[in-house]
Amino acid sequence: MAVTTAPGITSQVVMQMDVDYVMQTFARQPVVFVRGEGMTVWDVDGREYLDFLAGIAVNGLGHCPPSVVAAIRAQAGTLMHVCNLYYVPEQPALAKRLVELSGMGKAFFCNSGAEANETAIKLARKWAKQNLGQNRFEIITAEGSFHGRTLAAVTATGQPKYHQGFEPMVPGFKYVPFNDLAALAGMIGEHTCAIMLEPIQGESGVRPASREYLQGVRKLCDDRSLLLILDEIQTGLGRTGRWFGHEHYGIKPDIMTLAKTLGGGFPIGACLAADDVAEVFQPGSHAATFGGNPLACAAALAALQAIEDDRLVENAAAVGDYFRAKLEHLKSQRDDVVEVRGIGLMLAIDLSRKDAAHIGVRCLEKGLIVNSVGDSIIRFLPPLIVRREHVDTAIRIVSKALAESAAI
Ligand SMILES: *Cc1c(COP(=O)(O)O)cnc(C)c1O
Repeated sequence: MAVTTAPGITSQVVMQMDVDYVMQTFARQPVVFVRGEGMTVWDVDGREYLDFLAGIAVNGLGHCPPSVVAAIRAQAGTLMHVCNLYYVPEQPALAKRLVELSGMGKAFFCNSGAEANETAIKLARKWAKQNLGQNRFEIITAEGSFHGRTLAAVTATGQPKYHQGFEPMVPGFKYVPFNDLAALAGMIGEHTCAIMLEPIQGESGVRPASREYLQGVRKLCDDRSLLLILDEIQTGLGRTGRWFGHEHYGIKPDIMTLAKTLGGGFPIGACLAADDVAEVFQPGSHAATFGGNPLACAAALAALQAIEDDRLVENAAAVGDYFRAKLEHLKSQRDDVVEVRGIGLMLAIDLSRKDAAHIGVRCLEKGLIVNSVGDSIIRFLPPLIVRREHVDTAIRIVSKALAESAAI
């Protein structure tokens, strides 16, 4: 189907305007997208792409999911925003739904993942001051973690490259190697109040916590009266084939953050906490002007409903297993694929070669959107609506990109 855009809008014009007027914080691929539907997006020239990145795990329901689009349209024409000095029906309705799904106690709404983690960090500190003592503020996070780009969230992020140029960082964070329980136990000190982890590290290349590790962390937190904060911004809401990543580990966090898939493509973040933790937030403790507005909540309610109605968590588990098996098969056929990692629809291959970025570009040229991480990792985060035939197509393209590039 032909795509109509304003006359004179070409990819060259858009890319030049970006250079001229947008802060150059992103190393973008040279493609301009104008439309999406389901698993597919189209560029300004009408070229079609199969999306195995889903806007970095945001478009969990695919592009422009009809029920979310309808909910946004209806709510946009009814009431978009009144601010949190007043009640709106959609906000507690969404909180109730998330509490029912997660078994957590209460929710706070914001607009992004980083903001949800800021909320979690502030909540943990306030809880600790009231429950453990005035000097309990330190949060231990993992090397290779990713928690967002606001100052506290990026400080929590255990990757020095994201700190460079922004020092001094926020005080009160310590880092330990991921999946190393002894290192974590050794880092707990008199100031520690919480441990913050992703069940599967996403941004640094899809690295799942081991079962013993996460269960051990939960026990450490219980024994030492520390809070366990799980960042489920990427792993939450069906991505791993369960509603929440921690369900694979048989543990529960005290605080959990969500964003990405939550709004079905619309920006919204949430911080959930157990009741006895949430209660330290009192009127005035924390706020977000846009947080939990009717428009964002209506989108999220429709997104959760669609995940449930269309059995997308089950689909993520089933197609994720199929995808993983296909990647393992690819590995068995190719010497340059050395490892397959991940759970559900959060998957990656690690290559022995160091041209992952180039492989990503070749895939894009062949009509497949994937994400290269570092020199050697290709990450896959397809929408939860993905089917086996899409996986077959993706595998064919990745395999071809690898084979052709090797030939150069
Ligand atoms: C994406 C992501 C974030 C940051 O979310 P933003 O909406 O970009 O602020 C935080 N933590 C994890 C695990 C993420 O994947």
